[in-house]
Amino acid sequence: MKIGFIGLGNMGAPMAANLVKAGHDVVGFDMAEVKIDGVRMADSAAAAATGAEVVITMLPNGEILRAVAGEVIPAMTKGAALVDCSTVDVDSARAVAAEAEAAGLLAVDAPVSGGVGGAAGGTLTFMAGGSEAAFAKAAPLFEIMGQKAVHCGDAGAGQAAKICNNMILGVTMIATCEAFALADKLGLDRQKMFDVVSTSSGYSWTMNAYCPAPGVGPTSPADNDYKPGFAADLMLKDLRLSQQAAESADADTPMGQLAQALYAQFVETEDGKGRDFSAMLPRFEKRKRG
Ligand code: NAD
Repeated sequence: MKIGFIGLGNMGAPMAANLVKAGHDVVGFDMAEVKIDGVRMADSAAAAATGAEVVITMLPNGEILRAVAGEVIPAMTKGAALVDCSTVDVDSARAVAAEAEAAGLLAVDAPVSGGVGGAAGGTLTFMAGGSEAAFAKAAPLFEIMGQKAVHCGDAGAGQAAKICNNMILGVTMIATCEAFALADKLGLDRQKMFDVVSTSSGYSWTMNAYCPAPGVGPTSPADNDYKPGFAADLMLKDLRLSQQAAESADADTPMGQLAQALYAQFVETEDGKGRDFSAMLPRFEKRKRG
């Protein structure tokens, strides 16, 4: 299948590489200079989309997605599918889907979970919103890039699921980091802390699969000087999306609100910008109560 892939960053690059390995013809475009084995690079988003049966986008936010969609939709062939895997606000997802459908295209919002490890290993979870036909068209590609795809409902439903998932992720990472920092101050060895919690009721993805303590648990960004991985800025973006959604749906989310405030402080007034979201641990190490 001919696939256009726009946005080949930390996540998009390994996802595109897996499509190539599975035998697909992938034409890519990114604002930055990118080289991926087997991916032919085009010199615009529209050029990457021309003649593609499926166009996948993996971009930083809703504003950029809307701009890119404005370029690629007119270049796409009727009946082709636009599959956005970025994490964006529900309104942008719905607006892009409406624009694509009006142009005779299929549209799916299909944000992912699993991080850069999941993208590289082809073990992402896709949460998808769109029509049955659109989901069916994208499903074989989800199978290559991921281990599971859940069709959550109509346009925007994938983003709604993603925002809820990442609110849990942000809150859990903070809880895991503050618990490690407390354990340090109580004189507990970090490896022992991991051995206990990862097999006890405090276990979580942030502890077991993405441990914020260097040298403990499986390899994670903590072992690479907290280079992202999943940047703290992107975590803050997702927490803001969750709080915007909570406000518009009149949902009470106090932990999500506090997680947003902590990541905002970390990224905007401390040294969190450009670091992995698990770099909350060195932040807590330095701090005292109060
Ligand atoms: P990234 O910043 O590494 O990649 C984004 C890419 O988009 C960059 O290469 C950038 O040059 C490119 N880009 C920006 N504007 C563009 C434009 N107008 N046209 C073409 N390319 C453009 O980010 P990432 O970590 O790959 O994340 C991408 C998306 O996936 C985000 O929405 C993020 O929230 C989501 N996500 C990330 C992770 C993760 O662990 N990194 C996990 C799940 C979801």
